[in-house]
Amino acid sequence: MAAGIKIIATVMSFLIVSISEVAPWFSSENIKNEVNSALEAISLESVFGFVSEGYMVDEETIASYEELVSSFRDSAEKFMNEEAVRKIIITDDEMLWPVGHKSEVVSGFPYYSNGGVHHGIDIFVTGLDGRNRDENGDSLSYGKPFRAAQSGVVVNVCNDNKWNTGFGNYCLIDHGDGTQTLYAHARTIYVSEGDTVSLGQTIGEIGDTGNTTAPHLHFEVRITDDGSCRRVDPMDYVSEPTV
Ligand SMILES: [Zn+2]
Repeated sequence: MAAGIKIIATVMSFLIVSISEVAPWFSSENIKNEVNSALEAISLESVFGFVSEGYMVDEETIASYEELVSSFRDSAEKFMNEEAVRKIIITDDEMLWPVGHKSEVVSGFPYYSNGGVHHGIDIFVTGLDGRNRDENGDSLSYGKPFRAAQSGVVVNVCNDNKWNTGFGNYCLIDHGDGTQTLYAHARTIYVSEGDTVSLGQTIGEIGDTGNTTAPHLHFEVRITDDGSCRRVDPMDYVSEPTV
């Protein structure tokens, strides 16, 4: 991925999905206004310029934290649309990383560390310090949103909290180009069979249903255009984590 594209992708994720984590880095009403005008102008460069300067937390920021977060979120939602996401990934025709929070792969494709076959990758949300639990030992993944890696049509959903061959609550999206993506172990799925979803659309919340030992997102890429249903390494298709 080109450096410029990567930077923009990072900034987008930064603004959109990690807002509650990064907001303490910003400070004061002036900065909030500056971000808002940058977002109004839909200028990725100006947003990056602002973010790259870095702002440290102060007491005023803490006091106005909630207001700041909601303001950022409102602006970011206005800013975040399919066209904007496509600008990030269109260059390399990649799928979007399905988790917007800072996250990492704990178990990769095609084997678990114990040698068992693994048809996808397991993604955990982590804090800025890289840990996947908070100071109370609670999972940072649980309840966090995940999103469609490409636009498509939802072809299969189970949202009944049952085992479902180990997937628990899951959904499968057909992207119309011979690829499908699957998202499993959800706390809940927001979409229904037959729904059209857009790139980057939030489609569920990470959970621990089915065969899991801790809340995480199991993500698969499947190839179907040759009549088979081959599971392939998602890392060959998806953008890298951008936060
Ligand atoms: Zn898995």
